[in-house]
Amino acid sequence: MIPVTKPFLPKAKEYDAYLKSIWDRQWLTNNGPLVNEFELKLKNYLNIEHLLYVSNGTVALQIAIKALELKGEIITTPFSFVATTSSIVWEGCKPVFADIEPDTYNIDPKKIEAAITPNTSAILATHVYGNPCDIDAIQEIADKHGLKVIFDAAHCFGTQYKGRSVFEYGDISTTSFHATKLFHSIEGGAVFTRNPQLLKKMAFMRNFGHNGQDEYSELGINGKNSEFHAAMGLCNLKYVDEILKKRKALSLYYLQKLTGLKASFPKHQDDYISNHSYFPVLFDTKELMLKCLSDLETEKIYCRRYFYPSLSSLPYVDKAALSVCDSIVERIICLPLYHSLTHSDLDLITRIMLRAQNYQVQEPSSIEADIAQLLETALLVKTSK
Ligand SMILES: *Cc1c(COP(=O)(O)O)cnc(C)c1O
Repeated sequence: MIPVTKPFLPKAKEYDAYLKSIWDRQWLTNNGPLVNEFELKLKNYLNIEHLLYVSNGTVALQIAIKALELKGEIITTPFSFVATTSSIVWEGCKPVFADIEPDTYNIDPKKIEAAITPNTSAILATHVYGNPCDIDAIQEIADKHGLKVIFDAAHCFGTQYKGRSVFEYGDISTTSFHATKLFHSIEGGAVFTRNPQLLKKMAFMRNFGHNGQDEYSELGINGKNSEFHAAMGLCNLKYVDEILKKRKALSLYYLQKLTGLKASFPKHQDDYISNHSYFPVLFDTKELMLKCLSDLETEKIYCRRYFYPSLSSLPYVDKAALSVCDSIVERIICLPLYHSLTHSDLDLITRIMLRAQNYQVQEPSSIEADIAQLLETALLVKTSK
């Protein structure tokens, strides 16, 4: 069986050593020494000044929205994990969807500008599959209209843009350290900001708003994480370079093996270092996508339709027709990608996909059919004259 992802696990004895230290201290949670050590090592690794480790990537988004005191409408992407949209609604704001770019699958800055109203307070964009948005264009629009920017960077551990961690952009960036992500602490997440006041505010918010034992500075929630989770993060951080390297090699091998497939792969910004967190394939047709998906499943290889359906179809949002996103969600899947996957697994997967394409009944693609029909009508008009 090959699943779409498998959580990375360090050597059990490395985790055991941390467990022993937790037992010795009997300090289990509430900003303990391992949480502090983890935050420090993360800052060193990412070469950034400020971050807060929180309980998960969804709470990170909620704290970000709360800390920026967002109200009214937030312009966001329809192509992301559900938490990007649900956090907006959970915080009492209204998601307004702007369509995505056909080649990067990230929110389209041109569509953002058109969606701004007097009620817009912010832009919440996802760097989908770890591939940075058009950060500069988004920031420019935000500055022009006085909007805040949050980047959902849940896919981005290890991604760099213009020589810096992509976590450094926007008013706040958030990430997830969930077990299915490239780098994880079982459950976990983080908020990033370069603004020290905002950081302080979020630190209070993470811990019930406590300022010392008997004083409260802010409205807060429980967004803390435990020593046990920090311990897993500390173990995994030692392997992250190895993980990034392996994923890069696998991704390049996929690309090489899939030449000739009637599909495309995301374009990305210049001056960017990818973390290869996912391997998305955008098929030319939905039929070919479904055929590949089912042929792979027959061989017990499970891909996922990340992301399907469009978030603009959720039951608790105002529905919107977004032609680019609506078309992409019907044709895109992510192929298996995880540390213990081998090149021979990839040989198998890609062979099945190319075979699926060859055996597929060749029907004209929709555009070819349209052209054929146009020609036919043109000819009819001519002959009838
Ligand atoms: C995983 C993910 C989240 C949520 O993270 P959790 O840690 O699972 O709460 C948010 N946004 C995106 C884009 C994600 O992929």
